[in-house]
Amino acid sequence: MLALAAIPLGVNVRCLDPSPDAPAGAVSELTVGPLDDDLALRATATGAEVVTFEWEGVSAAATRGLELDGWIVRPCPAALAASQDRVDEKSALTALGIPVTPFVAVDDHAGLLVALDQLGTPAVLKTRRGGYDGKGQHVIHADADADAAWKDLANSGPLVLEAFVPFDRELSIIAVRGVDGDVRTWPLTENVHRDGILRISRAPAPDMTSDLQERAASYTHAVLEHFEYVGVLTLELFQVGNTLLVNEMAPRVHNSGHWTIEGAVTSQFENHMRAVAGWPLGETSARGEVAMVNCIGALPNPSSVMGLPGVHFHRYGKAPRPGRKVGHVTVTAPDAHTLAGRLAALQAVLPPDRG
Ligand code: AMP
Repeated sequence: MLALAAIPLGVNVRCLDPSPDAPAGAVSELTVGPLDDDLALRATATGAEVVTFEWEGVSAAATRGLELDGWIVRPCPAALAASQDRVDEKSALTALGIPVTPFVAVDDHAGLLVALDQLGTPAVLKTRRGGYDGKGQHVIHADADADAAWKDLANSGPLVLEAFVPFDRELSIIAVRGVDGDVRTWPLTENVHRDGILRISRAPAPDMTSDLQERAASYTHAVLEHFEYVGVLTLELFQVGNTLLVNEMAPRVHNSGHWTIEGAVTSQFENHMRAVAGWPLGETSARGEVAMVNCIGALPNPSSVMGLPGVHFHRYGKAPRPGRKVGHVTVTAPDAHTLAGRLAALQAVLPPDRG
């Protein structure tokens, strides 16, 4: 989607992906290779005016190496590195005065018991690095579950225990910063996850107040300024009453921002390309009420989806397997009532998620 957004801007994109079937291959020159392979990275980056990424699993050390050798890397490797470790990430956010989910680093079984003592139950034991879509997590409902959680994750590297947040809802805030320091923020998005996987996003988030929007925007501002960040940044948030806690930061375009393709004046993908290329940013307001539904493990019949009003269907060209995001559908409407009707009509033709 990022490479696709580059085309009308006249930007040539070369992508590195471990899979020869990567969807980016349809719209850009594709180099196939591991993302932590320095040679593959350098081969891909040769001749590029700027290097960017849309996955936080890219080796931060390798991007630092590119920078040292004269490449311009946007966003900066420091933000990428912070986002790769849940403890570093939460510590960096806390230092900026941003409220985060209470957490304690866990290095061994005894450390888990100490952390449980501090945070109480329920709590969530997570891998510090490499977890996504709810993978590498174990909910500890009571102290008696601690051993099972430990057995499950003990061999997955360093861990962190987080308080289980009884959130009212999950939100995300997506912002972009240009080379000149200009910052634009999209409206807060409400996200519904099941089994750790994003299912539906709604924007602007229902019952959003200007206070919530401004507070979330001020958190993104602080992070963007701290890293002198260039490009799109996402903060995933828990709303508990009137409190916003940051769960995670993603130094990239985000699934909860896919709605911006048809639902905002400028999409997250176009603005990321504009930012990293050093161009002025586009307006980020929503064009009405928008919902985005992920297709997980299965795709609907294209004709039944595309026949519905206000609907746009995206297929990623990925082989379906349980839990894999293989496409999404965006629904736009002039008002919330119309959106609810269109969403209900869409749900009626979608196959059940697989995974
Ligand atoms: P994460 O990989 O941290 O984004 O977690 C995936 C999903 O698991 C989140 O979107 C939440 O729905 C849930 N989750 C993660 N951490 C917590 C927590 N500390 N308290 C409650 N729910 C959580």
